[in-house]
Amino acid sequence: MHCPYCRHADSRVIDSRTAEDGASIRRRRQCPSCGRRFTTLETSSLTVVKRSGASEPFSRDKVVAGVRKACQGRPVSDDDLALLAQQVEEAVRASGAAQIDAHEIGLAILGPLRQLDEVAYLRFASVYSSFSSLEDFEEAIAALRAEHAAARAAGDGAAGAGTASPTAPGGGAGSASLGAAEEPEQAPAH
Ligand SMILES: [Zn+2]
Repeated sequence: MHCPYCRHADSRVIDSRTAEDGASIRRRRQCPSCGRRFTTLETSSLTVVKRSGASEPFSRDKVVAGVRKACQGRPVSDDDLALLAQQVEEAVRASGAAQIDAHEIGLAILGPLRQLDEVAYLRFASVYSSFSSLEDFEEAIAALRAEHAAARAAGDGAAGAGTASPTAPGGGAGSASLGAAEEPEQAPAH
């Protein structure tokens, strides 16, 4: 590793530590020529194999681009998408494989996207899982409704962060809405 200050051709590692998520190693280095210190970050390369057989390096930007379309008109911010892409990368890296199918990235997107926005999730799933009929949508929506019901039964009121629907007081057998109609009005940016 060249010294970034004096371009000396060699450097000495004086400290190495693994990042908390285990996906990268940070090395503190010192240049034996000028004595300055610098840090390098080492991550394993992750190759994505597309259906065509072509391969390319994993890219968070591509994950974001793939999901952004499904999020059109939904209350999903760029930060939300960046976080989702990070979660997807962590999930696929956790497998430890240096090479993964594009299909597995799609699978890894579904979970976090469902957490983020259910309408966007249905759009993405309909394309990704190639829904071919209304029944496919009905099944996916029924699965979401069943999860809502289970979540309500489990923790009546203990809703996860980020859900915008107010908790119905009193509990009881309330009507099960998908919650999509309850977006708060967003004021235009000032
Ligand atoms: Zn140097």
